[in-house]
Amino acid sequence: MPDDIVIGLEIHIQLLTQAKIFCNCSTDYFEQEPNTHTCPVCLGLPGSLPVLNKKVVEFALKTALALNCEINRTNLFHRKNYFYPDLPKAYQISQYDKPIAVNGFLMVDSGSSAERRRIRINRVHMEEDAGKLIHLERDGEIVHSLVDYNRSGIPLLEIVTEPDIQSPEEAIDFLQKLRAIVQYLGVCDGNLEKGSMRCDANISIRKSEKSALGTKTELKNMNSFRAIRRALEFEIVRQKKLIKNGESVLSETRRWDEANGRTIIMRSKEEALDYRYFPEPDLLPLTIKQEWIEEINSTLPELPEERKERFITDYQLSDYDARRLIEVRSLGDYFERAAQDYHNYKHLANWILGELLRCLGEENANIETCPISASKLVELLKLIDNKTISGKIAKDIFEQMFKTGKSAAKLIKESGTTQISNKNEINGIIDRVIKDNAQTVQDFCSGKEKAIHFLVGQVMKHTKGRAQPDLVLELLKERINKPY
Ligand code: ADP
Ligand code: ZN
Ligand code: MG
Repeated sequence: MPDDIVIGLEIHIQLLTQAKIFCNCSTDYFEQEPNTHTCPVCLGLPGSLPVLNKKVVEFALKTALALNCEINRTNLFHRKNYFYPDLPKAYQISQYDKPIAVNGFLMVDSGSSAERRRIRINRVHMEEDAGKLIHLERDGEIVHSLVDYNRSGIPLLEIVTEPDIQSPEEAIDFLQKLRAIVQYLGVCDGNLEKGSMRCDANISIRKSEKSALGTKTELKNMNSFRAIRRALEFEIVRQKKLIKNGESVLSETRRWDEANGRTIIMRSKEEALDYRYFPEPDLLPLTIKQEWIEEINSTLPELPEERKERFITDYQLSDYDARRLIEVRSLGDYFERAAQDYHNYKHLANWILGELLRCLGEENANIETCPISASKLVELLKLIDNKTISGKIAKDIFEQMFKTGKSAAKLIKESGTTQISNKNEINGIIDRVIKDNAQTVQDFCSGKEKAIHFLVGQVMKHTKGRAQPDLVLELLKERINKPY
């Protein structure tokens, strides 16, 4: 990966508080009747006054500490002034030159140089979300625009990185790690599709790692990791082509057009608004006691990176397996529930990262609502270990467990797929195979050791995979060497 790509991210996360940031309205707005979760404060009616929700500050502190930031024990809210119909006050209450936290960092793994790299975090600040415009179209023309203020006043944290990211892969790794952290902290659900985590990506190209930064563009409107990666990749090609042709990259905001797989200009930076920031006169400067910071710091939950290390030590998992298991908190929890009663951890990890994730992916389901509980998976794995069923049959059973929610034991009983361990029954089949494959038997007898595997395969076929291959091999050899 070349050193010439420069990326900086601005991420908004929606905080999982019960109430909005400056009023008591519920934050539960997703798919609710429009304008039902509003009050004079979040509608911006004249004379209403904001009151800061303490939980928002707590969540901001948790996030900032987990991102290794310095806390500004005194910080300010500012008014960011601009007019837009989704912003009834014509200003957004945000933080400006005195945000709650600065100078943090997050380590990423998938850099251009396959080593862990530090991505600096410039700032973390609190702000309120705006409402949402809904455009009604007819024949591709907007005929009506409606506004829903349920989202107005939802608490957000904005997290801004320094331009330290060197590739789209590294940007995705950063975002996945950040998402895992906020999910572990319980401050945000991290859902990009629903918009509870949103990312604007700034990107530029420069000649070499040592030369000055090039002109950047800002990319918006990506609502999946895939879209972010594709938008960055598109923009790298577009900017490099401009530079190669002796043209210059213009400072502009571009939106990702998912349908056509390209970025298109929204506005140039010349049109950039002057927000006329000034301190919010209706809120006092926020002063945070050192004891509160220490209390929050000492009660932070185990974070993804620590959990990964613990999985490697406690369960002897590979770095790769551990990383995949911890990425989503509930998946790691599932593994740990199962690991209490099942100690072949590698086997367990393989099933969770293989069959389980595959079935969940196909059904577009998630681990929280998975029809196979951890204890049911353990039951299945124990049946493989004690040779009641083969690994191959276990996969079929697993799929049925997933579809029906029934236990492995029940399904095996219903379908009669237990392994055949009755030697007489297997010997009967062996006799038939030997008779049908006289030439192969002769090959084996004259020294072609490998021929026996074909015979084992034939026996397995006749039993529809229900015999234990080890036992079949043993009985076959016995039978050929010592005919009865
Ligand atoms: P702006 O003046 O456009 O607001 P900022 O300096 O505030 O720019 O940075 C906004 C974001 O853009 C940050 O995440 C920062 O890391 C990133 N950024 C700044 N300069 C560049 C650049 N030349 N290339 C890529 N990203 C950049
Ligand atoms: Zn309100
Ligand atoms: Mg800026």
